[in-house]
Amino acid sequence: MKLIDKYGRVHDYLRLSVTDKCNFRCFYCNPKTSKECNTGKESILSYEELLGIIRIFSQQLGFKKFRLTGGEPLVRKGIIDFLYEANELKKQSYFELGLTTNGFYLSDNIEKIKSAGVDRINISLDTLQKKKFKEITKIAVIENVFDGIYKSIDIGFSPVKINTVIMKNVNDDEILDFADFAVNNDVNVRFIEFMPFADNDWNKDDFLSYRDIKNIVEQKYRLSPILNQENSVAKDYLIEGEKGRVSFISSISEHFCSSCNRVRISSHGDFRLCLFSNGAAHLNFKQLFKESKTDDDIIASLENLMFTKWEKHPDEDSLKEMKSNNMFKIGG
Ligand code: SAM
Ligand code: SF4
Repeated sequence: MKLIDKYGRVHDYLRLSVTDKCNFRCFYCNPKTSKECNTGKESILSYEELLGIIRIFSQQLGFKKFRLTGGEPLVRKGIIDFLYEANELKKQSYFELGLTTNGFYLSDNIEKIKSAGVDRINISLDTLQKKKFKEITKIAVIENVFDGIYKSIDIGFSPVKINTVIMKNVNDDEILDFADFAVNNDVNVRFIEFMPFADNDWNKDDFLSYRDIKNIVEQKYRLSPILNQENSVAKDYLIEGEKGRVSFISSISEHFCSSCNRVRISSHGDFRLCLFSNGAAHLNFKQLFKESKTDDDIIASLENLMFTKWEKHPDEDSLKEMKSNNMFKIGG
């Protein structure tokens, strides 16, 4: 059984948010005006429910890739034990397990994360400067994040991916520094276009497209594209003659909806066909489990819903108006 939409897109990648709690307050993701973060244990998916979801999607729907996100996954109590349990499911039907983290608690946990079977790690870092780091995240510990990055490299994650959202007058002056960081540390820096969500100060004038960002990188480095990466949301490049890679994620200026293979479930259990889907959730996994729905019932509901997936997300002006939920609520 496969989840296929009316445009023939086969979905086999689930991004699963394990918490709506975060220890950072990145203004573009978790703005001060946000009221619904950290809603408490009862309202988010339990570990048992999360494992149930991974089982259904991997064993019944052939999903090959899961990424745990949040909020900040590593702030949730018991997350390491959960990773070990998720790894048990991998033995029953193989899939790849990834984790996206802000890196704050990474260095203390990296051995356990590796031995629990996490295959890929993405670490978010928008500045290399201590002072600016505090301004963006409201937390003054960039050293923890660097430590987490270096330990992830040492323990053998390869490539370690660094997610960097580029915003004009915030960190566009660091684009070449980040390219240098990729080269010097042999990591994959992924430059992400700033996306509009509720109250995140998105403004057309502050937007840099992936082409703008790439042009700046090319002032110093020659890039050669890595081709044939099916369903990759990133445009990936080798840096000629150097170690490290850079990628560009052009969600706004050049969307990649035609090859979309991903769906999402928020920490509250809401199933989402697209990051930008708006309005009430049509399917909630907490509710489905409460009603003791069978796998067959759940799959039938998913199949029906899948047929309503839009062909592509609206343009940035409409997105700005829609005020979709912020990333930390949806699970970025
Ligand atoms: N807390 C973890 C972290 O920061 O990596 C995981 C959750 S976070 C929502 C996942 C990713 O979404 C991060 O890389 C973050 O930079 C990105 N993100 C959040 N808001 C964004 C926005 N408005 N535009 C682009 N990327 C965004
Ligand atoms: Fe938290 Fe990650 Fe959002 Fe920053 S980007 S506020 S670390 S969820």
